Amino acid sequence: MSPAFPAYVVEGTPHQAQGGVRHLTLDQLPAGDVVIEVEWSGVNYKDALAASGHPGVAPHLPHVPGIDCAGRVVQSQVESLPLGKEVLVTGYDQGATRWGGYSAMVRTPAEWVVELPEGMTTRQAMIYGTAGFTAAQCVKAITDRVSPEAGPVLVTGATGGVGVFAVGLLAKLGYRVTAVSGKPEAATLLGQLGVVEVLPREALADKSGNPLLAARWAAAVDTVGGAPLASLLRSIKHRGVVAACGLVAGDRLEISLYPFLLRGVTLCGIDSAKCPRAPRLEIWDLLAEAWRIDLPEGLVHETDFDGLPAALQQILAGKMRGRTLVRPT
Ligand code: NDP
Repeated sequence: MSPAFPAYVVEGTPHQAQGGVRHLTLDQLPAGDVVIEVEWSGVNYKDALAASGHPGVAPHLPHVPGIDCAGRVVQSQVESLPLGKEVLVTGYDQGATRWGGYSAMVRTPAEWVVELPEGMTTRQAMIYGTAGFTAAQCVKAITDRVSPEAGPVLVTGATGGVGVFAVGLLAKLGYRVTAVSGKPEAATLLGQLGVVEVLPREALADKSGNPLLAARWAAAVDTVGGAPLASLLRSIKHRGVVAACGLVAGDRLEISLYPFLLRGVTLCGIDSAKCPRAPRLEIWDLLAEAWRIDLPEGLVHETDFDGLPAALQQILAGKMRGRTLVRPT
């Protein structure tokens, strides 16, 4: 039998599950081509849902959450992924229908594995994680359609994992970035990322019901969904674009067609888990070099498995600032 290694295992019943450190062996992991010795994982909103036993995310208990991981290949059945290669995995079914990255060892299908881009460490890869990868996809949807000269851009949920990378990337690429945040005390950190203005969440709490509001933003990254997204879409300038990826404020969108038919607004849905391989590799290469963002210290936190319940609770409550890395111990 292979030696035991630690993992954060969620047990119990749907919506009432609890996590704790258990020791697993390789034969307990799902089948796959590659075993990765995990150096870092990260905390995403979806991980918190999985860790609470949300049946839509983690339908089978017991479960090991962790949609992201980065580390070294220690067993491999494919030539392109030799032992010792540094790799990352984000999304697909990892940490959802399949056991994930909150484990010192992860077994995975080879086609999910991305070689670490040159110059990127496993820690840097997990500072990005699905959050940075998603933000970069949102920003790509904007840069493909709207130039910085078109006007100011808005990012909602700005202090969250996706939000901090979205504001940082847009500012780096020359856009004038306004952030919407429920944490006024984070204004200095957001300023370090290039944000020129921070608005409270109430700025998107329009109650007029007007199908169109004053056209203010050339583009936006929306990480919250619900009523703020509906309000935002009505404030987008002619031919502007909103890249929408999240639903922490709600999974419904109640809006008329006028922003789309009279202003030609584009709503781009962003999905990360099943992003095809070619654009996936393109985004990781961008994040390694041309779009590299180093978050300020105050936005990167670390925990081990014992600290995970608190970090997961924090992200569920919308109180996370930036990114939390997970050491598999
Ligand atoms: P975080 O919790 O780190 O960030 C979300 C941020 O949204 C919070 O920090 C907070 O920022 C703000 N917020 C929280 N609750 C509310 C609320 N009720 N109303 C308005 N704003 C709120 O999560 P992530 O950044 O990891 O993910 C953001 C969203 O994107 C989640 O819904 C997640 O599931 C989704 N997502 C989707 C992906 C996809 O593939 N489509 C991939 C990755 C994430 P502040 O205090 O600054 O306002």
